[in-house]
Amino acid sequence: MIEFILKEGFNVSGCPICYTTEKQMSEFLFWFERESYHEYSSIKALFEHSCICKKHEEQILKLKDKLNNTFELLIEMENEELKRLMEAKNFKRKTKDIETNCRFCLEEKRIEKHAVKTFVKSKELIENYLNSPSLFCKKHTLLILENLDKKELAEKIIKKALSHLNKVYKRIESYFKKIDYRSNEKPKEDELNAYLEAIKFFSNL
Ligand SMILES: [Zn+2]
Ligand SMILES: [Zn+2]
Repeated sequence: MIEFILKEGFNVSGCPICYTTEKQMSEFLFWFERESYHEYSSIKALFEHSCICKKHEEQILKLKDKLNNTFELLIEMENEELKRLMEAKNFKRKTKDIETNCRFCLEEKRIEKHAVKTFVKSKELIENYLNSPSLFCKKHTLLILENLDKKELAEKIIKKALSHLNKVYKRIESYFKKIDYRSNEKPKEDELNAYLEAIKFFSNL
């Protein structure tokens, strides 16, 4: 399944790992909106991770008053936990165990890791990527390199990034030449928008 989504991601101009993570994450949120919001195990997982970040708060708020189902149970769990904490001799020791990460962010990280591991293990996927118009963002280029065993494959992945960045750099150079007052040419669309190509590499999820 994840191989299939990665392959889809090779056909777009952005980062295939970002693409895969976003796709799988929207699937996860889709099921949260359909079923998980009122399921015990899912609410318990929310409780165990103790917080919901701003980005994911916005996403789950789409559920509106259905979330009363989620928070009724979540508050019950929280009440018990806080009471236990109040009764414990060493209340500070307990707080050390609380995971501060957002439940949804953790899921996102799990998917991302799975996508990276799947990619580095498959010769076919690596070959597909090298021949595709897509380019890993900086974060995912580094994560892939960290997980690859073969140096020659790492070199190929770096070369692909270098060649892409070089093309964008040339467009930026040309943009500056053309906006100079001595120039009688105006920057072309792709030179004006070179920064948009660049930002795809430097930003991620
Ligand atoms: Zn990425
Ligand atoms: Zn989050």
